[in-house]
Amino acid sequence: MMKRVGLFPGSFDPFTKGHEAIAWKALELFDELIIGIGINSRKQYLFDIEKRKHHIQSLFVGERRISIQVYQELTVTFCQKIGASHIIRGLRDSKDFQYEKSIAHMNFQLVGIETVFLLTNQEYSAVNSSIIREIHLNGSDISSFVTSPKLLV
Ligand code: ADP
Repeated sequence: MMKRVGLFPGSFDPFTKGHEAIAWKALELFDELIIGIGINSRKQYLFDIEKRKHHIQSLFVGERRISIQVYQELTVTFCQKIGASHIIRGLRDSKDFQYEKSIAHMNFQLVGIETVFLLTNQEYSAVNSSIIREIHLNGSDISSFVTSPKLLV
């Protein structure tokens, strides 16, 4: 049987408890999950890319079915490169849905790759990377929203 590989892409700046829960849920559906940290050269990030990668790796130590990779190409191009059959995205609300829907349609049109949407856990539905960046920049503790945040600094 072919191994079913899923790609969970994102900026993960930083990778939150909400993202973490989505990754575990996705692992129930795929044999292998690749968490892809996408780099967009026109975007500025707060947390260093190597630290983001190391942080995510540390959360899944011992889970051999999850690996972390950094990529710079289009998400669908990266899917083809790594042999992922599906893209996984997390949804918090209808705003996420509206945004994700158009990307998913375009990705399907480009290369025929389907996107699987997983609903956030209720307790994480307000967890948002950009608000976490603000909290961190203002010197407050982000450990309610991010596991092991010390690895990011
Ligand atoms: P991007 O810059 O690609 O939107 P993010 O790192 O912000 O990347 O998010 C990656 C994915 O995780 C997106 O599908 C986003 O909707 C989802 N996501 C973000 N926060 C949460 C959360 N708290 N719970 C579940 N999914 C989330």
